Parts: sequence; C-alpha cells; structure tokens
Amino acid sequence: MSEIPKSHPRYISLMIREKISKAMKDGIVHETGLIAHGRGEAFDYLLGEKTIPMADEAEKVAAIFLLIAKKPVISINGNVAALVAEECVSLGESIPAKLEVNLFHRTQERIDKIVKELESHGAKEVYGTVGDAQIPGLEHDRGICDKDGIFSSDVVLVPLEDGDRCQALIDMDKTVIAIDLNPLSRTAKNANITIVDNVVRAIPNIEKWIKKLKNEDASYLINIVKSFDNNKNLQDVLSYITKKLA
Ligand code: ATP
Repeated sequence: MSEIPKSHPRYISLMIREKISKAMKDGIVHETGLIAHGRGEAFDYLLGEKTIPMADEAEKVAAIFLLIAKKPVISINGNVAALVAEECVSLGESIPAKLEVNLFHRTQERIDKIVKELESHGAKEVYGTVGDAQIPGLEHDRGICDKDGIFSSDVVLVPLEDGDRCQALIDMDKTVIAIDLNPLSRTAKNANITIVDNVVRAIPNIEKWIKKLKNEDASYLINIVKSFDNNKNLQDVLSYITKKLA
C-alpha cells in the first residue's frame, strides 16, 4: 500500500481507498465496486464521516433483529470483503449468524477468493459456493444463492446491496437489514431496517450492540423494535444532511 502519513486530514478515507484499490487488483473487488465506493464516499462526506445518531439507532435495532432471528445470514460482496472481512467474521460469531458470499457480478474465481479471505480471518464455514437455489424474480446469476444460506434465512444483513435484490429478498418475506450510505437509493428505501453509515463503522457498531443486548429480556428487546420506524429514521437522516448543508 502507498505511504499515507497518519497526520493527513483524510487519512482514514484514503486508507479505505487503498484497501479497495488493492482488493480490486487482487480480484476480490469488481471494477464497478470502485464506482459504488465513490458514490458511498460522497454521502459519507455529507454525514461528516461519522456514525450519526439515526444510524446508531438503526444499528441497535439491526442487532436485535439478528439476535432474535432463527436463521440469520450476513451477505458478503467484494467491497465488504475488502473493507470488513475480519469484522464480519467476528460479527457472525457473536450473533451467531452464517456468512454467505453473494455477488452481483458472480464468478467462481471471485467467490473462491472471497471465501479464502474470510477464512484467513477465522471463518469456519462460508456459504455461497454451492449456488443451489435461486431468488425468485431475479434473472440469471444475480439470483443465485445457497439453499442452506440466504435462501432459507429469515433475517439477512446486506451491506451494500443492489435495489432489485433487496426487493426480491423482501418479496421472499425475509427481514432485510441494509447498510447503505445513500439514503436515497432503492435499497435504502425498500429495506426493513436501513443503516445509513459506512460499513467500516456499522459492522463493529452492530457487534457492540449485540454484546450489550445479548442477555436482555426478549420483551425489552421487542419493545425497542416496535418503537422503531424505518421511514421516519430515513427522513431524520435526510433532515440531518440538509441542515448540515444549510
Ligand atoms: P440502488 O440499486 O439501491 O438504488 P445503487 O445503484 O446506487 O443503489 P449500487 O451501485 O448497487 O447502488 O451499490 C452501491 C451502494 O453502496 C451505493 O448506494 C453507495 O452509497 C453504497 N456504499 C458504497 N460504499 C459504501 C460503504 N463503504 N459503506 C456503506 N455504503 C456504501
């Protein structure tokens, strides 16, 4: 990686770029992943590159849904593997939840590389290589998933998902938790729980909430979920951004 001095005012953002760029050269990130990252960066800039209170609230609710789920799955794509492979493995263990590699531009080679990356961070079992099920309503490779993974899950955490696939998972009656820096994307609007935060902050923060809430009473947790309104949370995010711009 190129030398970036820690004193640089944009150190974290530049380090993230370096990671994405290296992962593309290593065949983990698809070239369009760089463009998706750029769109995310622009929104992160508007948020002040920090976890805003609405995101923290959504991360708490996401943690509860993952804790009370019977078959939770964390979906991993190239950008997620490049930025938070270790953190996803750790989150998966803390819930516990399965990890599944699920790619928009699916190739066996890239799946294998991402599986290896997750295994190098301690993942014991990674789904996504079998591809023996199809998400209804999605054409071709985009809909492929594992029968024992995403296909049979009840709650799916999809960091950086495409809008169509997010909707198709909702149509399968799954609870979809999305992490997306763009509060205006189709994914953000369609998901059951939308976390408008950078994956590099969101994944560790969800794990923090998992650890805090793990031993709480079910009725206490359900009351928190009941009082959460995703549309209102998204509106509050937009108000936050527009106030900052004013
Ligand atoms: P949609 O299909 O949902 O309308 P899109 O076409 O804008 O969305 P994609 O290109 O499929 O989006 O996915 C990229 C999304 O991921 C963008 O909305 C971008 O804001 C978001 N994103 C990129 N990098 C990050 C990151 N590090 N953390 C969180 N979100 C990110």
